[in-house]
Amino acid sequence: MKTIGSAGYPGFFTLDALKDGAAITLSACVHKVKPMGAFAFVLLRTGRYVVQATYTPENCKDDFSLLKEGVYVTVSGVVRAEARANYGYEIVLDRFTVLSAPAEEYPLHVSARKLGCSMDANLKYRSVAIRNPHERAAFKIAEGVCEGFRRFMMQNGFTEIHTPKLTATGDEGGANIFKFKYFDQNAFLAQSPQFYKQTCVAVFDRVFEIDPVYRAEKHNSTRHLNEYTGLDFEMGYIDSMYDIMAMETALLKSMVAFLAENYQNELKITGATLPTITEIPAVTFLEALEIAGGNKNKRDLDPNDEVKVCDYFREKTGSEFVFITHFPAAKRPFYAMDSKDDPHTAESFDLLFRGLEITTGGQRIHDYYEQVAKMKRMNLNPDDFASYLDIFKYGMPPHGGLGLGLERVVMKLLDLPNIRQASLFPRDINHLEP
Ligand code: ATP
Ligand code: MG
Repeated sequence: MKTIGSAGYPGFFTLDALKDGAAITLSACVHKVKPMGAFAFVLLRTGRYVVQATYTPENCKDDFSLLKEGVYVTVSGVVRAEARANYGYEIVLDRFTVLSAPAEEYPLHVSARKLGCSMDANLKYRSVAIRNPHERAAFKIAEGVCEGFRRFMMQNGFTEIHTPKLTATGDEGGANIFKFKYFDQNAFLAQSPQFYKQTCVAVFDRVFEIDPVYRAEKHNSTRHLNEYTGLDFEMGYIDSMYDIMAMETALLKSMVAFLAENYQNELKITGATLPTITEIPAVTFLEALEIAGGNKNKRDLDPNDEVKVCDYFREKTGSEFVFITHFPAAKRPFYAMDSKDDPHTAESFDLLFRGLEITTGGQRIHDYYEQVAKMKRMNLNPDDFASYLDIFKYGMPPHGGLGLGLERVVMKLLDLPNIRQASLFPRDINHLEP
């Protein structure tokens, strides 16, 4: 029998290892080889960085011809300060061993600063495309958004939950829901964690979830995926939806500060600029429609309206975010609380960022009778929602929350033209693999 202790568990490369004169050993992928005559540059791609090394036959006796793009190696050498290299250092190689060599060359230009291929090629060879440092940076930023979100939530007394994605009822209504057979029963993929996160407010007061959300979007837009990552929170004891909006403002500030502190590497690779957040302007849906100059009878903002409203507020206030409040109740889900002043509008808001909706949130109904009455008004059968209605039957505090789309946030932070580039393995109407 063998027993496994934790002593000597594998380490990983960090930039701290780059110190002038230090001996170094690291494992990486050969990103690019640039022969320069008497020597060659060998760029080594680690899990986060691309580090410059130099090969000369005087210093290194191992066979140079084995150093090809895509080969995985362990190298050793000496670190030397070199102002022109990434991170200000290079490694003078004195040994390397090949760990694994690919069977074929990359079908894409992985070492280019930007991939520069078509979206079709990018998605077809996705496993290769995301090896490009510019492409992969989006996913480190996504990690930072999630971690910034999680930290802020936990500092503010929210409990992390994970709720079922296989469900018996649709949360959001509408046609964009995936149906499937669950043994002998009809079932749906969760369109949001709405019901369960509300349920958990009665248990934990404040909850959050980072999990997949499914939408059967049939159109091929640059801002919709069929599976995306929802950053959701829900909290009790609120006075109004403005408490949720204040919470989101504080959350965004904290997330941006977290990215600034920990993700300069990726911000530099992508040339992204983080937004400055002080206060976020808020206007009603009707005011927003007016600013967008569209038809006053519209019941939702279309993508062009969202761009116009954002442009307007960026110019007027400098804010890259804007809240839109008081949407027509008919366009919001049955769980949204109606406004006391005007029951045709809901206590519900969107947050736009750089011309795109990234959040919908609001205050929810907490009273059992009010919820049943609203379902009936919306031609829904309360019997179809019996288990959901139990949470109100047995008591709920006043509460509200929101859903933030991770890929949309990353797309806008990095100014990506297509949301697919913010999803490792995007699911759209044409792609179920890779
Ligand atoms: P849209 O009107 O832009 O289609 P929605 O109002 O249907 O979005 P919500 O139900 O409000 O979306 O979902 C909450 C958040 O989840 C959105 O603000 C957005 O950030 C994100 N989101 C919604 N649908 C998608 C999708 N298909 N792909 C990626 N993100 C999405
Ligand atoms: Mg929405």
